[in-house]
Amino acid sequence: MQEFRTESKKILDLVVNSIYSTKEVFLRELISNASDALDKVALEISAGRLEADQAGELAIELDFDVAERTITVSDNGIGMDAEALERDLGTIAHSSSLEAKLSEGLQDSEVDIIGQFGVGFYSGFMVADEIVVVSRALGCDAAFEWRSDGVEGFSVSPSQRDGRGTDVVLHLRPDDASCDYGKFLSRPALEELVRRYSNYVRYPIYLRTTGLREVEPPEGSRLQEPRFEEYSQRHVLNSMVPIWAKPRAEVSQAEYDAFYAEEFQDSHRPLRTISLRARGSRKCDVLLFIPSEPSGDFYSRDYRRGLRLYSSGVLIDECNPDLIGEHFGFVRGIVDSPDLSLNLSREGIQSDPFLSDVAKQIDRRLCSELAAMRDEERDVYVEFYGNFGRIFKFAIYATLGALNEKLEDYLMFFTALRDEPVTLREYRDAMPAHQPCLFFASGDEAGRLEASPAVRYATEKGFDVLLCSESVDEFTLLTLRSYDGVPIKNVTAEDVRLDDADERAFVEAANAENGALFSALAAALPEDVSMVSATSLLEAEPACIRSAGPVSLGMEKYFESAGDEGGVPPIRHVLELNPRHRIFEKLRGLWAVGDKDAVTRYAWVLYGQSLLAEGLKIKDVGTYAQAVYSLM
Ligand code: ADP
Ligand code: MG
Repeated sequence: MQEFRTESKKILDLVVNSIYSTKEVFLRELISNASDALDKVALEISAGRLEADQAGELAIELDFDVAERTITVSDNGIGMDAEALERDLGTIAHSSSLEAKLSEGLQDSEVDIIGQFGVGFYSGFMVADEIVVVSRALGCDAAFEWRSDGVEGFSVSPSQRDGRGTDVVLHLRPDDASCDYGKFLSRPALEELVRRYSNYVRYPIYLRTTGLREVEPPEGSRLQEPRFEEYSQRHVLNSMVPIWAKPRAEVSQAEYDAFYAEEFQDSHRPLRTISLRARGSRKCDVLLFIPSEPSGDFYSRDYRRGLRLYSSGVLIDECNPDLIGEHFGFVRGIVDSPDLSLNLSREGIQSDPFLSDVAKQIDRRLCSELAAMRDEERDVYVEFYGNFGRIFKFAIYATLGALNEKLEDYLMFFTALRDEPVTLREYRDAMPAHQPCLFFASGDEAGRLEASPAVRYATEKGFDVLLCSESVDEFTLLTLRSYDGVPIKNVTAEDVRLDDADERAFVEAANAENGALFSALAAALPEDVSMVSATSLLEAEPACIRSAGPVSLGMEKYFESAGDEGGVPPIRHVLELNPRHRIFEKLRGLWAVGDKDAVTRYAWVLYGQSLLAEGLKIKDVGTYAQAVYSLM
């Protein structure tokens, strides 16, 4: 027996004791080795050193034996002679980052490292306590056997094999608490693993099934006993040519749709299918889908954004988030680059300059695709935006403005003056020359917003107002701050409302005349109202509230619904009264006769009603109700 090298032993020890849950990747690794070995034969053929006829069909074959608890992966690839078996299977493939980790010394909790780095051939020992490899190299008459229990070392001895190629026989470990290894010994299990990890390997992967089947008794036979015969069949498990590697012109939309449905488990046809051959130092095929509807979990924490990453048809990462930005998280798709190491870790993917460049190309392409949809197929875009637009808003807000320029032109809003949603560009282009800023109003429902006094006031002046009906809308617009150099402002902001000299004079006069009454009203609501003021904006309503600080009513509502009161400073409001309203006249009358109790009750009722009108909660419902009853 020959001993493994020290570093190989360390890794083997980790593999064997690994609690790494995805033990199933062993099959992907062995199939990938078989595929590499077949590539080398294909190379010999294309170099003219081997006749294609002589080479036979290049293929991989799987077999399993329940009684013996073995799984065999065979190929008619390049094979290994005694020297190669010793050299290539005696040492683990080099992975400098894994070696660096190992030299630092791994903690028990870090054995997951195995899964991240992949360990090639040795991953077989995750499921097997003995591996036997029988191989015969191309052009060699003799075959050799490599055998190891994956602990101390291995032995190489002469063996027998018909023709060129390699058989890797895994003797599965006994089932234990960590894993039911026997579950791999079934046709559906192997089929599933091949389909998940190796579906697009270029060579056919056959699964041999053997069994007994009943045979029809010969015609006229009087035998009652059923008769059985042994049979053996081969099925191809993988679909081989990846759809993304085919030229676009050779694939019909129906084929793309079927692939999308199967691969991403979505029964809705994709809204857009985008294929792209990324440019750069290496070849890279990209196939992207914009779904037509968000998946059920899309707006939940469970949703995982990412693209599938393959290396020559072998799956490396099921869902890699670094290939696609947060703002395009709804996009599903595949990136396949032939020269990636199967052992590439998430960190490795992140720091690969080629892949980050691919990610940039993907981003640019999606931007241009969506811009074209917005400009040329408005209806489609409006529907798309209805489904996924929120993600743009969240992205703008969450990145604190870093994505403003990239995403602002993809936003859409309903407005007070139009029936159709508009982009900020369209709103900006339609603004009258004297409009000082882009206006927005926030609240629950577009209908209620339109009816609000501030919106009415703006539209009467010919200014349209963006209606924010989702809480994130306001955060997004406040993060944008401006568009095309023009500030974006809440239509209720004080500086916006008092820009008219007549209005200002009216309000100032009413405030001066009723100063004492307003102070008494404010004093009745010390914790909630910072100031009481007259307003000229109201018509039918006697009163309204506006925010007295940086937290707008829309945001307050958001905090209230998020149950986030603990993190928010106590919010006070300005209570605004309509001096033209008959209730205001009554209030003045009560004040004049010195009925302070009635004034206090009015303060409670007017403030409570204004809160309700904004969709906010009344904190002290009991006092409010008492005040209402006493006035009835
Ligand atoms: P990697 O595939 O990254 O080189 P592995 O640990 O998977 O690392 O395999 C180690 C080496 O063993 C391969 O590079 C190859 O030379 C050899 N090898 C493994 N399996 C086969 C096979 N089925 N046919 C021929 N050579 C093989
Ligand atoms: Mg390998």
